[in-house]
Amino acid sequence: MNLKESLFTLQAYKPSKKPLPIKLDANEANYNLSNLSIDEPKEFNRYPDSYASDLIRALAKTYNILEDQLLVGSGSSELLELTVKSFVNPNETVVSLAPSFVMYEKYAAYYNAKYKSFELPQNGRFDLEDFLTFLRETNPKLIFLATPNNPTGASISQKDIQAILKETDALLVLDEAYIEFKGESYSMIDQVGKYPNLLVARTFSKAYGLASLRVGYLSANQVLIDQLKRVKTPYSVSALSQELALKALSNPNTKDAYLQMIKTNKKILQKQLEDKGFSVQDSDANFLYLQTSFPLASFLETWGIGIRAFPNNFYRITIPSDTELKSLEKAIKEIDDDENKR
Ligand code: PMP
Repeated sequence: MNLKESLFTLQAYKPSKKPLPIKLDANEANYNLSNLSIDEPKEFNRYPDSYASDLIRALAKTYNILEDQLLVGSGSSELLELTVKSFVNPNETVVSLAPSFVMYEKYAAYYNAKYKSFELPQNGRFDLEDFLTFLRETNPKLIFLATPNNPTGASISQKDIQAILKETDALLVLDEAYIEFKGESYSMIDQVGKYPNLLVARTFSKAYGLASLRVGYLSANQVLIDQLKRVKTPYSVSALSQELALKALSNPNTKDAYLQMIKTNKKILQKQLEDKGFSVQDSDANFLYLQTSFPLASFLETWGIGIRAFPNNFYRITIPSDTELKSLEKAIKEIDDDENKR
């Protein structure tokens, strides 16, 4: 038995093989919300609430949108895939940026869609006019835009997003997995009522530090949400995950302290790297992205620190906690000043 032909070239998603003591390779939070606990014994024999109604009610209140404009899924991953599954016919085109989140291309492949990417310049900056030209040329059915983008850390302004929405009838799926690190006021989640083609994906995996629970949410106008509900796998978010995500949402202090820590440590780490001669792009997310001929990942590995290596000598480093930062600082200090970093 063979895979479908359209999937022949797909590689399995590879999480890091053996996590090193200091794990800065997956943009996870480096604290554990271990104070989260469930209130009462659960009826494990019953399926969970398929629409996560309590969580949706709280999200709608938080963002001042309608409950009918929200869908909760097993991580934002499920919901991002669901948009392609629901709206893109075989041979229609899905577009995104390059580099960006690697799963977008896979989602297109799963459903026999074409995938085209808009090459970002070396500095990661997004040029609106060039992108609009790209849209006219590619005529996509669906656009994935991560803002802040993974792995570059650069954001797209709301003004540019509004211009894209005006220009195209394609569905624009705005992936705001890292938006809290830039600031809640930059989110477009409360604007979905205004646009027939805007979908906004968010997650509890990053700022809330709940990656293991697998809870994400998607907002869009009610027509789109109703259609997505017809396609979504039922019961995909466990009752435990729903309850714990709701608790985290209701107690934002831990998240807010974490966001503050990331801001501070991001500045410190960027300066340490720049002082050593590395050229580091500014980042709106919980990671830094840089290109260097110095073998940064293998060097840090010898110090027990795991970061993510990308093609063409690019590296992405998740912002460390205070204690992790001290270890990283020690390692960085050992890099020879005269070593070529370009
Ligand atoms: N979007 C982006 C841009 C990401 O980087 C990630 C995770 N690395 C996701 C979505 C998926 O996150 P989750 O499924 O955990 O919500």
